[in-house]
Amino acid sequence: MVRLHTRIRRATLLLILLALSGLTACGAPDAVNVYSARQEALIQPLLEKFTAETGIPVNLVTGNGDALLARLENEGDNSPADLFLTSDAGNLYRAQAKNLLQPVTSPALQAGAPAHLRSDENYWYGLSVRARVLVFAAERVDAADLSDYTSLADPVWRDRICVRSSGNIYNQSLVAGMLASDGPAATASWLDGFVANFARTPQGGDRDQIKAVAAGQCDVALVNSYYLGGMLQSDNLAEREAAEQVTLFWPNQAGRGTHINISGAGVTRAASKPEAARQLMEFMLREDSQRWYAQVNNEFPVRAGVEPSALLQSWGSFEADALNVSELGRLNAEAVKAMDRAGWK
Ligand code: FE
Repeated sequence: MVRLHTRIRRATLLLILLALSGLTACGAPDAVNVYSARQEALIQPLLEKFTAETGIPVNLVTGNGDALLARLENEGDNSPADLFLTSDAGNLYRAQAKNLLQPVTSPALQAGAPAHLRSDENYWYGLSVRARVLVFAAERVDAADLSDYTSLADPVWRDRICVRSSGNIYNQSLVAGMLASDGPAATASWLDGFVANFARTPQGGDRDQIKAVAAGQCDVALVNSYYLGGMLQSDNLAEREAAEQVTLFWPNQAGRGTHINISGAGVTRAASKPEAARQLMEFMLREDSQRWYAQVNNEFPVRAGVEPSALLQSWGSFEADALNVSELGRLNAEAVKAMDRAGWK
């Protein structure tokens, strides 16, 4: 009986193995598997170009960043993912901290992503830069009253600010950046004043904050600049009209520079094709890819010397915070706690 069971088990295992190898053969045996938190349309054409040039097929699995991270963690050593691509340094740092990535380096990677926009230990590399800016209603706000993020705690902004919830990683990273530069005490008192100035309970995404300013529900909002770019180029007339009613302001130009974050990627610890995954990252950091990738996402190239799109250039140049984006991940938990303490919903 025991032996029969063992035989059945062996036969089942054999069938499963056969089925799996069949599946792999049907797909592409040498394909790089990418778990991506970016929308397919924003990355697929670049992946196709990579395949055309190298002959290496790419399988793309798209999902929410947190969900993909959880999936990587659950799959462990059996994960089919070779490359993890996210839209925030915080999630890359989390993946690194959970031991889900492996260090990878090459001269092309080092030259492509500046030192402050990649992991110190080569676990991940920035692929594009996103800036967290202010948008305001020009008819209700004098631009001269705007300066840095900290001034948004001033009582003059009471009931005039819109921002999304503290559960959002973009806001968490902004506060982490503040903790890194100003320390916990100054950040805590800033948070108290800032939260007191909210025009409404945090809700919606960054696009909704832009719409709220346009609709007069608030005068200033904190958003990632590519949302404004996306809305200005939207097929949806209402979105375009809302975006046209707000003005972009680069905060912190007299201080440490505007808070930036990255979209980036790292080779997974479980990768069965780490070499091909590295090649793909190198490809994405190449000048021509950088231009395309930044443009389609309305973001800024991570690679020095690559010009942003005409729309982004029309917003003028800006000084970006030179903080190492790893700090945004390292201080994430402290940021979340501080936001919670201040009552940022
Ligand atoms: Fe986003």
